[in-house]
Amino acid sequence: MLVNDDIHALSKAVSGPVVLPDSPEFAEETFAFNVATVHRPDVVLGAADAQDVATAVKWAAEHRLPVSVQSTGHGANSAIDGGLLINTRRLQDLQIDPVERTARVGAGVKWRTVLEASVPHGLVGLHGSSTDVGVVGYTVGGGLPVLGRAHGFAADHVRSMDIVTADGALRRIDADAEAELFALMCGGKGNFGIVTALEFSLFPLGDFYGGGIIYPGADADLIFAAFRKWLPTLPDDASPSISLLRLPDMDFVPPPLRAKFVVHLRFAYMGNREDGDALLAPMRTVSTPLMDTAGPMDYLDVDQIHMDPADPLPFTDGGALLKDLGEETVAQLLELAGEGSDCPLLLVEIRPLGGALAQGGALADAVSGRDAAFLLFLVGFNIPPMAAASIASIREILAAMAPHSTGYTLVNFHGEPGDEADRARAWSPAVYERMRSAKTTYDPGNLLRFGHAITGLPATG
Ligand SMILES: Cc1cc2nc3c(=O)[nH]c(=O)nc-3n(C[C@H](O)[C@H](O)[C@H](O)COP(=O)(O)OP(=O)(O)OC[C@H]3O[C@@H](n4cnc5c(N)ncnc54)[C@H](O)[C@@H]3O)c2cc1C
Repeated sequence: MLVNDDIHALSKAVSGPVVLPDSPEFAEETFAFNVATVHRPDVVLGAADAQDVATAVKWAAEHRLPVSVQSTGHGANSAIDGGLLINTRRLQDLQIDPVERTARVGAGVKWRTVLEASVPHGLVGLHGSSTDVGVVGYTVGGGLPVLGRAHGFAADHVRSMDIVTADGALRRIDADAEAELFALMCGGKGNFGIVTALEFSLFPLGDFYGGGIIYPGADADLIFAAFRKWLPTLPDDASPSISLLRLPDMDFVPPPLRAKFVVHLRFAYMGNREDGDALLAPMRTVSTPLMDTAGPMDYLDVDQIHMDPADPLPFTDGGALLKDLGEETVAQLLELAGEGSDCPLLLVEIRPLGGALAQGGALADAVSGRDAAFLLFLVGFNIPPMAAASIASIREILAAMAPHSTGYTLVNFHGEPGDEADRARAWSPAVYERMRSAKTTYDPGNLLRFGHAITGLPATG
């Protein structure tokens, strides 16, 4: 049990604030974008620099306190109960090297901040559907980018990271220095340490064409049939996705779409208007769109492609990797989630994979699921009275899709972590075994045991 002297010793040793549950700052320091999740650690450190993280981890190890980390709370799928929570939001260092085409960010930096600094140099990073997400949490989870089919997963393009391992040591790791730890941190989530800074590649930005088409939900079967035929005609430079949206009557939804059931086609393409229009043409005539925003796009408007909620909200989610999107798969999905179903979910999304996502980078990183053809992702409100129905619907759809699934998921889309077998679904068996071995080496006391944590190998001898 922690006593006042222990807390005092930590406060004296770090520069950032040490916050206890009875302090007025506790709610702010533990706040998560997913407001359904309320964290209750024993103590929070608002880390001011990497040294604070190292000092606090060492302190926690000495007191046998488990350690968790949060920057934005976009990935707060489960509550942190007890232990030390390290909040990294103050770690805002950002350097863009336009010659080397790299960015180096502190662990509190969000994707929007990177783009605002890199786009003037004609460079972009491999962010996902919302640039409000933290770069580090997203990337250590693999990071499935909007332009993933063109460039691969964000984790495939990490150059180096600064990480505090469970022994409190601050290490700079890369493909040469502690290569296996580095490879497994690229996709293995926060299992082996707390990242304080990340360096990654940026990509040249030429013409950019993007946006979305929103159709009436009643035409979902026609639109999905057309989508299936259209996909094989696209180059890897084009990254589409499609979703069924039950839009709430809320401010973040454009007024004409509030409280409507619609199909949302998203399209991101590194190319000019003429080519973008030509690629998208078959999908413009399938049904009468309620809204069509696709066209040449200022890259800083990239969040308009997916139109993810920008403000915190209470949600629950879940996902699975699919082998195919055949007629039968679509028919089953629409039966459970299409018009006329009692599906309560806000979002039922299909993201095609393939292209560079299937190939991987030079490093044998921890991103699994490269053999999958699609990602299915489900999101519902997690607030009474909808919470129970959302959770039941996610379970029902995942169970119905099981025959079409590879049996695995991506950790960033896994949803609430269940038992060990469930958590293991986020990695291939081969990667999972490598991760267990590394966990035994780098976190033998299982200090980092929250969220999508794995356990090490049993002791031998
Ligand atoms: C609206 C929305 C859109 C999204 N779109 C995409 C997408 O397109 N592609 C995609 O791949 N994912 C996407 N995600 C999932 C997102 O990438 C994950 O939830 C990710 O974990 C968020 O990271 P964070 O740091 O913002 O969140 P946090 O909740 O702060 O962190 C989540 C977890 O990341 C790990 N982590 C965070 N910081 C560190 C650190 N410094 N060191 C080690 N581990 C750390 C920890 O395990 C932590 O529990 C989306 C999520 C939301 C809510």
